[in-house]
Amino acid sequence: MAKTKTPQAVRGTQDIFGPDAERFNHVVETFDRVRKLYGFKPVILPVFEDTQVFSRSLGETTDVVSKEMYSFPDRGGDSLTLRPEFTAGIARAYLSNGWQQYAPLKLAAHGPLFRYERPQKGRYRQFHQIDAEILGAAEPQADVELLVMADQLLKELGIADGVTLTLNTLGDAASRDAWRAALVEHFRGAADSLSEDSRRRLEANPLRILDSKDPQDRPIADSAPGIDDYLTAEAQDFFGAVTAGLDAAGVAWTRNARLVRGLDYYRHTAFEFVTDRLGAQGTVLAGGRYDGLVESLGGPPTPGVGWAAGIERLAMLLPDRTYAPGLDAAIVPLDDQSIADAYRIARDLRGQWNSVELFATGKVKKRMARANDAGALIAVIIGESERAAGQVMVKDMATGEQALTDPADLGDIVAKAQNVRWLQSAGAAGLPDIDDEAWPDFDLPVDPDGN
Ligand code: ATP
Ligand code: MG
Repeated sequence: MAKTKTPQAVRGTQDIFGPDAERFNHVVETFDRVRKLYGFKPVILPVFEDTQVFSRSLGETTDVVSKEMYSFPDRGGDSLTLRPEFTAGIARAYLSNGWQQYAPLKLAAHGPLFRYERPQKGRYRQFHQIDAEILGAAEPQADVELLVMADQLLKELGIADGVTLTLNTLGDAASRDAWRAALVEHFRGAADSLSEDSRRRLEANPLRILDSKDPQDRPIADSAPGIDDYLTAEAQDFFGAVTAGLDAAGVAWTRNARLVRGLDYYRHTAFEFVTDRLGAQGTVLAGGRYDGLVESLGGPPTPGVGWAAGIERLAMLLPDRTYAPGLDAAIVPLDDQSIADAYRIARDLRGQWNSVELFATGKVKKRMARANDAGALIAVIIGESERAAGQVMVKDMATGEQALTDPADLGDIVAKAQNVRWLQSAGAAGLPDIDDEAWPDFDLPVDPDGN
C-alpha cells in the first residue's frame, strides 16, 4: 500500500509552538495591558470582507491590492478577500454600525492578516498584527497619543533600545499634490535608471517609489525632494503640534522627509518604528493619519489615525528569556488510591489562582522526573503513608527539602515560594534591594508549632 505523504503547512504559513508561541502570546498580552492604560476598546472583526472594502480604501495601484490580496469568489459568487490589514475593515465596521455616535472612538484589535508575498524571515503569507486606531479625531493630540502608546509598548516589551521612531508628514491634499508633481519631475529625469516596477509607479503612484525596496531605485529615491518645501501653513502647524507633543511626552523621534507609507489613504502624520536587527524586514510598527479613508468607502468625511505592528517581528526582538508562566505546584500521587486527593488539592490550589499540573501516570520515578522538568516551585506528593496521616509531603524543588504538611497550608506555602522566586528574579533584573523584613521567609512548616 502506498504511504500517504505527511501533510505540510501551506508556504508562508507557520505553526507556532513552544518558546515562539510564548513570545507571541507575551506580545499580545502586553499590548492588551498597555491599550487599557490609554482607554482603547477591544474590537473583534471578520477575517474576510467584500473585496471592495480593501480595493476602494487602499487604492487599486498599491502593492497590497494589485499583487498581494487573497481574493476568491465564494459559493454564492461574491468576491471576498482575506483581510490584508485592519484599518479598512475597522472603517467599514464604523460605517456599518453607526459608531459615529461614539466618536472619537479608540479601538484595539489583533489577529491574522493575509498577503501573497515572497516568504522569508519576518515576512509571511499569514502573519499577525496588533492594531490601534482612533476614529473621528481630527486633532494632532490623537496622533501624539497613539505614538506615546506605541513607545510605551516597545518599552514594556523591553525592545525600545535599537528601535527608532522615524516620522514624516504627508501634508494635506494641497501639500501632497504639490509634492507629488515635484516627485514626478524628479523621477522622470531618472526614469531610465528606475526598476521596471517603479517606472510603472511613475504614472500611477509616484510616492510609492520612495518606499521601493529595490536597490536599483534607492539612490534615485534617496535624492528625491523631501516634502518640506511643499507644505502648506496648516500642514506645517499640524506637524509642529505632533512633534511638540512627542517632545513634551519624552518620545524620541527622527525626521525622514521622504518617508511614505505603502497605502494611498495616508495624510499628515506618517511614521515607522524601524530597527536594523531584522535585516530587510526592519519595520516593526507603522502607521499614520488617514483622513480620506472613510469617505473612500462611501461614508461622511471622518478623520482617523492609527498604527499596526507585526506580532512575529516584535516577538523576534524580545530579549532572550523565558516567557512561559512558571508552574507553581506539581501534584504527584504515588498510587491510584491517592488520585482523588490529588484532584481535590489541584482544584483548591487552582481556585486560589495557582498554576498546577498533575503527574499521575507512568512509573513513580518517571512522575517525579516529569514534575522536576516542568519547573514547579513545589511538588506535592501523596502516597499510602501520607493518606494514613491525613497529610501530604511537600518538596521544595529548589532546595530538595521536604516535609509533611497539612493540605490546608498548601496555598500559603505556594505564596511564599512565589515571593522567593519573585525576589530572585527582581535581583537578577538588577532591581534595588528590597527590605527582607517586609517579606515572609519561605520556610517549610517543619517546626512543631506549625509556623
Ligand atoms: P513592509 O514594508 O515590511 O512590507 P508594510 O509597510 O507592508 O511592511 P504595513 O502594511 O504597514 O507593512 O503593516 C504593519 C506591520 O505589519 C509591518 O511593519 C510589519 O511589522 C508587519 N507586516 C507587514 N507585512 C508582513 C508580512 N508579510 N509578514 C510579517 N509581518 C508583516
Ligand atoms: Mg509590505
